[in-house]
Amino acid sequence: MKTADLHLHTHFSDGTFSPEELAARARAKALDTVALTDHDTLDGCPRMAAACAAEGLEFIPGAELTADVDGKEVHILGYWLDASCTRLTSELQRFQQVRQQRIHDIVARLNAAGIPLQVQTVLTIANCASPGRPHLARALVEGGWANDYDHAFERFLKKGRAGFVPKARMTAGQAVELIHGAGGAAVLAHPALYRNDGLLPKVVEAGIDGIECWHTRHSESASNNYVRFAAEHKLVSTGGSDCHGMAKGTPLIGSVRLPYAHVEALAARRPTPTPVPLPASSASN
Ligand code: AMP
Ligand code: FE
Ligand code: FE
Ligand code: ZN
Repeated sequence: MKTADLHLHTHFSDGTFSPEELAARARAKALDTVALTDHDTLDGCPRMAAACAAEGLEFIPGAELTADVDGKEVHILGYWLDASCTRLTSELQRFQQVRQQRIHDIVARLNAAGIPLQVQTVLTIANCASPGRPHLARALVEGGWANDYDHAFERFLKKGRAGFVPKARMTAGQAVELIHGAGGAAVLAHPALYRNDGLLPKVVEAGIDGIECWHTRHSESASNNYVRFAAEHKLVSTGGSDCHGMAKGTPLIGSVRLPYAHVEALAARRPTPTPVPLPASSASN
């Protein structure tokens, strides 16, 4: 049976693998289809497309967006995104600029808290247009201010800690619309991680196409509940490992294997492009 992993990151955001390494690992795990879903960027997609073609894998270009539902942060995955959609690319660029400024803001806050971390150290580790807290976590570990990645979040980076700075967010409805406008399908990422299923009906209202029911950090019973919820709301059940390479220890790629029928069901949710109307005929009689 063909299987897919629809949630993967490279070093174009906060993963550690290159597209080529990720594609090689996907092949080694005998996956048939993979989607790249870096945070707020499509930068890794051209290389991932080429690497997947070389490995004989089907590739879906995507991205993971951050959205707001009732003041809570949720992640929305977009699949089959058209990189020539300028509304999408200009929004992504705006989010990347916010992320870059946020690194400066977080470092300033850490400095004020007595941690002499330098912006350049973080930017060198990140080395991408879409830097995030995982890069700060690595810098804090390397500088000896945290024991490991999770400790860095726990001590400095999570909400309520000295280095927490929220990201600019759009509403879930805007995220879905942006994805649909670029020819894509929109999926709510890792719902169990929000610990608030009350958000789900609002995300459905926003026009989501699918729910990421299977995720490395979902228990079996949570997955089953989301599958039921998705079926009740006529949404596609999807899944992905959320592999960040070595960033969080062991590479997760292939630890979630989505049966291919779900990929087809999701593909069927993509908006059909509206045909450009033909110019009115002047040869009327
Ligand atoms: P950012 O997009 O910069 O806010 O960073 C969010 C990313 O950091 C998520 O995609 C996770 O990969 C990671 N992350 C968020 N919270 C934690 C946490 N408490 N512990 C470890 N990693 C986290
Ligand atoms: Fe991430
Ligand atoms: Fe996420
Ligand atoms: Zn992710």
